[in-house]
Amino acid sequence: MSEYYVCTGCALLCDDIEVETENGKMKTVHAACRKGVARMKGCSDPLECTVDGEKADVDSAIAKAAEILGKAENPLIFGHGNSSSEAQKLSIGLAKKIGAYLDDTSSFCQGPIIEAILQEKLKTCTLDDIRHKADVIIFWGADPSNSHPRHLSRYSYFPRGKERQRGWEEDRTAICVDVRKSETAVICGDNRFYQIPMGGDAEFMDALVSALSSKVPKTSFGFDAKRILELANVLKKAKFGVICVGLGLIYSLEDLEPLFRLMDKLNEVSNFNLMPMVGQYNMRGFNQNLYEETGFINRTKFSSEAGEAEHGSEFSVVETLRNKTVDAALILGSDPLSSLPLSVSRYLAEIPMIAIDPCRNLTSSKAKVTIPCAFGGVQSGGTAVRMDGVEVELKKILDTENLTDAEILRKITEAI
Ligand code: SF4
Repeated sequence: MSEYYVCTGCALLCDDIEVETENGKMKTVHAACRKGVARMKGCSDPLECTVDGEKADVDSAIAKAAEILGKAENPLIFGHGNSSSEAQKLSIGLAKKIGAYLDDTSSFCQGPIIEAILQEKLKTCTLDDIRHKADVIIFWGADPSNSHPRHLSRYSYFPRGKERQRGWEEDRTAICVDVRKSETAVICGDNRFYQIPMGGDAEFMDALVSALSSKVPKTSFGFDAKRILELANVLKKAKFGVICVGLGLIYSLEDLEPLFRLMDKLNEVSNFNLMPMVGQYNMRGFNQNLYEETGFINRTKFSSEAGEAEHGSEFSVVETLRNKTVDAALILGSDPLSSLPLSVSRYLAEIPMIAIDPCRNLTSSKAKVTIPCAFGGVQSGGTAVRMDGVEVELKKILDTENLTDAEILRKITEAI
């Protein structure tokens, strides 16, 4: 019987992956998309264990990391989206012990949506609900054809489900709202693609609320009112609708109020859920683990005396680096020097930094201490939380001499 593994290429965490290995290496990966195959095949440029740019053994690197974090008055721990829940919980414990700032990438992407879902302000569902029940799917500022390549084929548009026996075209309507004609928009078709101007999402949502209230919808950018009324008509008839929220929508909204208004109206006239299109495989896990511990999902500062948690935008990775309020950093499975604006991230290279990662990247190239860890979901197991909040067990496939990130964090914590 075949054994199935989980792909950690994105937060869909596809659990139907089959692999063939040879001489301790991944030979072939079946069922995964191109992004998943690249992920499962591991690093092309593995990280080395170093202290001050010189090769070191892992015990010395861990001792140096503990020394840096122990001496720091305001350390920052950032990353987490590519780590198992077990490692994330240890990172939260370490932050509590040393009074650190703690943050992850949700701080500047899906965070507000995840927070609203955890606080039960937005109605949500599982990916399996979408596969079995969804008849109207809106991709809003999202392009899963590229970001989550198996979303449409495995869960949302194409598959047959218990209540959607005929699958796409006959049983499902896919709609795309975006500022550009993405590959997902092409799949939805021209008559189901609503191209809005940059920053026009809030206005388009309010126009849709008007149309759902049988009023004439108006936008300052002159979107064809007839098309908005037609869209409202499709949404009203949905038996099980879902809005898949991508970064394009999140970056366009100043706050979530227009989305709350639209979801309230949709659930007055039909039945709609929201799905956050989370990128990193366990970003939602970090948000949930921190929420359970502190009531906050990110941007948290622990006091060094009592380990009490505070939350605020000033504790975000962006603000702590911009304001130079941190004096050391531990970066876990992330590359902020590549992903944050240089004006903000440059400061990271000026303070003692520790990078724990299976692969070399720009951030690790500037770190004082680098500690290679096992590749999550390939060289180590554990648990992770899918974009819909479902916990998934990861199985180890290949052996490695590297410690897992959880083991490294435990050793650093013990050494401080
Ligand atoms: Fe992996 Fe995501 Fe592709 Fe699924 S869709 S195989 S989880 S990268």
